[in-house]
Parts: sequence; C-alpha cells; structure tokens
Amino acid sequence: MKKIKIAVFDSKSYDECFLEKANRKYKYEIKYFANRLNTDSALMAQGCQVVSAFVNGIVDKKTVQQLRKMNIELIALRSAGYNNVDLKAVYKKIHVVRVPDYSPYAVAEHAVALMLCLNRKLHRAYNRVRDLNFALEGLLGFDMHNKTAAIIGTGRIGQKVAHILKCFNMKLLAYDPRPKEDFAKELNIEYVGLNELLKRSDIISLHAPLSKSTYHLLNSKTLCNLKNGAMIINTSRGQLIDTNALIEVLKSGKAGGAALDVYEEESEYFFEDFSNKIVSDDTLARLLTFPNVLITSHQAFFTKEALTQIAKTTLENIEAFFKGKPLENEICYKACAKNKCKKEERGRCW
Ligand code: NAD
Repeated sequence: MKKIKIAVFDSKSYDECFLEKANRKYKYEIKYFANRLNTDSALMAQGCQVVSAFVNGIVDKKTVQQLRKMNIELIALRSAGYNNVDLKAVYKKIHVVRVPDYSPYAVAEHAVALMLCLNRKLHRAYNRVRDLNFALEGLLGFDMHNKTAAIIGTGRIGQKVAHILKCFNMKLLAYDPRPKEDFAKELNIEYVGLNELLKRSDIISLHAPLSKSTYHLLNSKTLCNLKNGAMIINTSRGQLIDTNALIEVLKSGKAGGAALDVYEEESEYFFEDFSNKIVSDDTLARLLTFPNVLITSHQAFFTKEALTQIAKTTLENIEAFFKGKPLENEICYKACAKNKCKKEERGRCW
C-alpha cells in the first residue's frame, strides 16, 4: 500500500521528536517544514495527502484553494483552538480535525503559575537576586487566600483552573454563556455577568475561545468596571483583550498587572528568537516596559504530557480519516454555527 504522506508546518525540533515517537506505530512519511501554513507555503505540501498546521497557521479561502489544487484531503490541526480556520472556506472542500483535549492541566497549571509569579513578583525577584540585590522594595504581593478569582470560560481548562484556585481557598466567580451547574455546585462558584465579575474580582483568568462574541471582550468600556488593582491573566487567545485598552488601565494603575501567554499580534514573534533582531511592534514593546506585565510566548500547552497527546491524537485523527472511521475531532461550519455537532451517519460532517 502507498505510504500516506503528511506535511507538518510550523515544525520545531520538539514537534518532530514527539511526532516521530508517535509515528512508530503508523510509519507515515512525514515531511517537516519550519514555515507556517499559508497560501504561499502550502505549495510545499505537493505530493502529500495531509497537512498539519499549528495555532498561527492561516487556513483561509486562498490556502484552501491551493491545498485542493494539490489534492490535499485533510488538515490535521495540532491545536485545540481553531480560530485560524475559515470554517466556511473549508466546508465541503477539506476535512479539518483538531486535538480538542490534549492536557487541560498543562494550560491550567501555567495560568496559575503566571498568577503566582505576577502576584509575588518572582520575575523581578529572580533577576534582582542574581544581581546581588536582596532588597524587597517593589516586591509586595497579596495573599490569594480569601480573595476573589474569576474564570471567564468554564470549559475544560477553566474548570481545572477553578479546582486549583479552590485549594488556595479563593472565592470563585465565573462568566460563561453556557453555565455548568454541576461544576458550579461542586466548587461553590457563582456565575455572574461580565461587568459584575470585573467589579468584584482580584484576579481574572481568561479561558474562553476566540470567536465573534469574545473578540475584545476586555476593551476600554468593559475594563472601566475593573476592580482597582485587579490582575488579568490570559492563556486563551490574544484577541480576547484589546491591548491598547489594557495598556491604558496599566498606565493609570487601575489594573494591578497582566500576565499574558498570548498576544493579539503574536503570530510574527511568538515561538521565534528575536534576541538579535529589532522588534517593530510598538505595542508589544510598550507592554514589555511595565514591571507588572509578565509575558510568556504561548507556552501554556508546552508539557511532555501535552506534546505526547498532541502527537498521538494528530496521528489517530489521520488514521481515522484514511480508514473511513468516524471523525470524532472534526470541526465544521455547520456544527460550530449551531453549537452542536450533527454528523452524517458515517460520523463525518459531510
Ligand atoms: P472548551 O471549549 O472546553 O471551553 C471553552 C468555554 O468557553 C466553554 O465553556 C464555552 O461555553 C465558553 N465560552 C464560549 N463563549 C464564551 C463567551 N463569549 N464568554 C465566556 N465564555 C465563553 O475549551 P478549552 O479546552 O477550555 O480551551 C479554552 C481556550 O484555551 C481554547 O479555545 C484556546 O483558545 C485556549 N488554549 C490556549 C493554549 C495555550 O497554550 N495558551 C492551549 C490550549 C488552549
């Protein structure tokens, strides 16, 4: 039988390592490309049947047309989020699968690590002590015990964050258009409206997907409601926050700090080494000047367990497609628009 060929875009040494391990079972022919998937780079997949893209790959109409010309049948995303896919453009053209649930613990634990680091100023303390400066001025934090934390988006990751914060004995608020009653009861969580949540919370952690309804959820209007000194943690998607509005509340001192694993315009910078280059993004540069802003480069998912699961599920998705099995992890316009997945009898969206 002819070997299935897969073009893996946006590939780093760690992707290759985990995919090769998972591929021992399948023996697919995998070609690795450092380029992100877009209309131009798509040409590199010539001769392959599958392309695999990551969070900043662009799956728009033109890319889909290009991939179809080359008879690519499947796009296997190595991510949970799929805001980079034009769902209308792929519908009935190319099947798209993703990895919905690789390790909510990885992202949740990173969100809490960011909270602790930002609150207790560990990022500053680390540098200070290495410079033999053992003074404590400027490092004052607050007890999280008995404070109020808010979870925006109580899905897989948001729920894990809530469980961890409950161990700190924090009061928990949540905002989600689809409240989860059992979870709320179990952890004594109060679902409230967004503005009330912002008014009452000392820490706000974002875990909603990027969509029309969450784009700039935190903007100059909603951020007016922020409790003085509140910390904002974003491990979801950068576009959930209007960065210029965030900068204003940081400048005024209304926000106590921000810890961001994602950034609106991250695609040019994150995952790459710019230490010998010039950063032309003035907004990013401004953010980096605040002592109370902590940025990590979209690394919340980056654990051994998550990478193992991403590689395993990606290849399982590909196997399911070529063996004609139901595509449990398929995403499609119809299913997402109605928020329920009604797949055909054969377990596929079309
Ligand atoms: P999920 O689908 O399990 O949960 C998302 C939750 O958000 C759902 O409960 C949904 O009802 C809620 N939601 C939808 N619209 C909302 C809105 N307008 N306001 C508030 N809540 C809303 O997803 P998940 O697995 O928990 O992942 C959440 C997000 O985390 C992903 O969409 C992705 O963007 C991000 N993520 C980031 C990383 C990283 O490395 N930083 C890794 C994985 C996922």
